[in-house]
Amino acid sequence: MKTFFNHLHAQHQGQYEMFRGALVPCHEVPARADHVLAELQRRKLGEVCAPQAFAASALTAIHSQRYLGFLEGAWSEWVALDPANATRDALPSVWPTRSFRTDILPDNFAARMGLFSFDAGSPLTVGTWVAARAGADCALSAAQAVAAGDRAAFVLSRPPGHHAGADFFGGYCFLNNAALAAQHLRHQGMKRVAVLDVDYHHGNGTQSIFYDRPDVFFASIHGDPRTEYPFFLGHADETGAGAGEGANLNLPLPRGTDYGHWSDALEVALAAIDRFGADALVVSLGVDTFGGDPISGFTLQSTDYLRMGERLARVGLPTVLVFEGGYAVAEVGVNAVNVLQAFA
Ligand SMILES: [Zn+2]
Repeated sequence: MKTFFNHLHAQHQGQYEMFRGALVPCHEVPARADHVLAELQRRKLGEVCAPQAFAASALTAIHSQRYLGFLEGAWSEWVALDPANATRDALPSVWPTRSFRTDILPDNFAARMGLFSFDAGSPLTVGTWVAARAGADCALSAAQAVAAGDRAAFVLSRPPGHHAGADFFGGYCFLNNAALAAQHLRHQGMKRVAVLDVDYHHGNGTQSIFYDRPDVFFASIHGDPRTEYPFFLGHADETGAGAGEGANLNLPLPRGTDYGHWSDALEVALAAIDRFGADALVVSLGVDTFGGDPISGFTLQSTDYLRMGERLARVGLPTVLVFEGGYAVAEVGVNAVNVLQAFA
């Protein structure tokens, strides 16, 4: 299995995030991807490839032009406001909630940060755009390889993607790598694509991007949003809208869920994907379901990721696996690569 590695990922390195009422050091750190790469190389698992460069049109298939324009220029704007900002990350602090307008693009930078985001946990840094853009190329390259006949490919990138919507960032995510991969598989001739999100947190961005589409099925197994981030999406009654009705499946589970109960939900998700008749599969592979994860609440153990990978392989579909969350930094390499090794 080829790994498309984002060599520029470390350019995105936030200093602080707002977490439970305080500015704390970021959980989403470059070492996460480095540990996965080191473990892949230690086990000599497949070839590590650089991505191709894709045109901007591959991004606008998923993200709005106005959002992409903002993201690309945001750091320059931030520093232009005050040269001292060059040493500070940009974090949003004001948002257009219910009854506010979102159709008018404000001139004010802080207002646009709020318009294009949904939390204060996702610092925008000097290298955010460069890292996210290269990550998108990795996702598109993996989809290209799978569409061309590879059995599977792995996207090793950060920042992660599944919380990013068509026109907003949040949850450490800026560009939705899984959605970009799914869309690219569609463009390459796969008629029906399923996205399976196994990250601890609901993939709200991916769900919202495909919610009214019948050609991309979204299934997510995650911590119940009544208590778990991102809180405002991911309930079981969200089944799709319009032409996409029936093409969305949420399987929220309580804190403390172990692999036995988690894998029951996986069987439900895979049965639905089978009924949907997918031609290809994209897996949002977060390993923050691990019992030792500092910001999550399931209790999967490292060996459970071997079982997960073996089960995903038995689905038998061409598969793009996309690295998402996982914040037990020392174990993230072993856990992610256990999935890949068992899959391969
Ligand atoms: Zn997560």
